[in-house]
Amino acid sequence: MKPSRLDKFLADAGIGTRSEVKIYLKKRMVQVNGSICTKPEQKVDPDTDEVLFQGNPIAAQGICYYMLHKPAGVVSATEDNRDRTVIDLLKAEGINTKDLFPVGRLDKDTEGLLLITNDGALAHNLLSPKKHVDKTYYARIEGVVTEEDIQKFAEGLDIGEDKPTLPGKLVILQSDTISEIELTIQEGKFHQVKRMFQAVGKEVIYLKRLSMGTLTLDPALPVGAVRPLTEEELSSLKK
Ligand code: URA
Repeated sequence: MKPSRLDKFLADAGIGTRSEVKIYLKKRMVQVNGSICTKPEQKVDPDTDEVLFQGNPIAAQGICYYMLHKPAGVVSATEDNRDRTVIDLLKAEGINTKDLFPVGRLDKDTEGLLLITNDGALAHNLLSPKKHVDKTYYARIEGVVTEEDIQKFAEGLDIGEDKPTLPGKLVILQSDTISEIELTIQEGKFHQVKRMFQAVGKEVIYLKRLSMGTLTLDPALPVGAVRPLTEEELSSLKK
């Protein structure tokens, strides 16, 4: 990581705002390599310098990647006046959430895989419509899902936008009065899965995202839990 000013380093590590950090420096609460440092402009190299705040070592934030098993009832935003956000769930785990954001949105009532990061370039690559990244969902549907629906999804559906959707790959797991399906799409239009089913006269009653690109929801990660991506998950996602 690149050297940075001490006040920026501490603010990025979640210690406080830049002005709060300056007060802490004046109050002699910060040490660099064993000596008290009061200068906000002091350069620190996160790879070689040891920074302590009130005697505790501070790690540089760096670029981070978390897998969240999003529960229903929280919104995919960084801030919200009314509802709990996915970022609040990470904060509750003691994670420094400065600059973190969810990659794309899941509806408030949707569960499943959500990647949370501060890596804007990766997020752009995963979300760009031009990149055609697969997103697979499991859903329960009110109504009997048929072979004819598979065909209609494969042709693309009119969901009230300028153009029909790109083809979706629909797999029927169970066809009954309540059906179970898996659907893979490459776009992320607002309420897209729900609107695709509305276009064939059916209603999604439960929706969960299972994967995004190469990243698959860890079956061992309970609903509401979060964990850092593994090295393997990250390297294949970046390819
Ligand atoms: N499609 C939807 O309708 N909702 C989601 O949350 C994700 C995809």
